[in-house]
Amino acid sequence: MIVAVAPDAPAATAPALLAAAVASGLEARAADDGHGGTLVGIHGTLGGDALALPGVAAVHEKHKPYMLASREFRPLSPSVVMVGNVRIGGGKPVVIAGPCVVEDREGLLEAAHAAKAAGAEILRGGAFKPRTSPYAFQGLGEEGLRHLAAARAATGLPIVTEVMEPDQVELVAGYADMLQIGARNMANFPLLRRVGAAGKPVLLKRGFSATVEEWLMSAEYILAGGNPDVVLCERGIRGFDPALRFTLDLAAVPLAKELSHLPVVVDPSHGTGKRSLVPRMALAALAAGADGLILEVHPDPEAAKCDAAQTITPADLAGITRSARALHAALLGAGAEGLEHDLPAGSMPA
Ligand code: PEP
Ligand code: MN
Repeated sequence: MIVAVAPDAPAATAPALLAAAVASGLEARAADDGHGGTLVGIHGTLGGDALALPGVAAVHEKHKPYMLASREFRPLSPSVVMVGNVRIGGGKPVVIAGPCVVEDREGLLEAAHAAKAAGAEILRGGAFKPRTSPYAFQGLGEEGLRHLAAARAATGLPIVTEVMEPDQVELVAGYADMLQIGARNMANFPLLRRVGAAGKPVLLKRGFSATVEEWLMSAEYILAGGNPDVVLCERGIRGFDPALRFTLDLAAVPLAKELSHLPVVVDPSHGTGKRSLVPRMALAALAAGADGLILEVHPDPEAAKCDAAQTITPADLAGITRSARALHAALLGAGAEGLEHDLPAGSMPA
């Protein structure tokens, strides 16, 4: 059940609800509602007097199985996730960019400066890579994390990088500002539990065979572990047509935002596998309501050690960020008619 506690409730009410849930053997988590109140998600039904405590404003017995990730859990405004001092959600779309894989220190520094100059606000780059072939370059591991930290120091950009195993979480969290859970690990439940306790924001990619509900249930693992900072990432699913690497499921973007309060970003690089399609699909993603983009960029895309065919140049990235800003302004302007219901509160023109 979800219990809404009013902004003017006594300070003791939410903790008392949590304590009552624990005493009944029920898992429970509290989160602020973004408007001064508190929401308490309780896995099960709380009996007794707790629900009659002063300040209990509403009790919802029925909700989605992904209770904490559901829109009902935070109905007043979508969540905003901070990565360093960059906001994801609730307004201006964020651009995350960088190479697929960290190749070497100098190359990463060059890519990071170029990405920043092209408008990126967060740097991506894999140090631990999930490769289809065991013979492919698997990433530099901790050395790659050190290069990412050097690139952050040089550019000021916070960094997001993938973690593949529960036992790697502590190491990766020691360097990264945001932990990426890759598509192939979306349903690695021990890993989700571990990042739920890692104290760093998480970028949760959708598995390429995962339903939207399974994706949200994976987010629920992280939220239930006590980590409220989850960003969903649509990165393409597997369809029947081999024409493209994956099928970018853009309808999943407004759907996920309707079903959940979590921010949603889109990866048109993996979602298409094809460089020439990335700019259009990036803008389509923003038109679909995405809170941001994650893009693979490399100073010399053809020479990239991983995912070269889908990697764009810094000049392409600069074009995308300029167009993204123009599109965002247009959507917030008079052309936002018909989108009022899904633009964040306060962002509509007067
Ligand atoms: C990546 O971001 O480089 C990556 C491997 O992504 P995905 O898990 O979506 O395939
Ligand atoms: Mn890649």
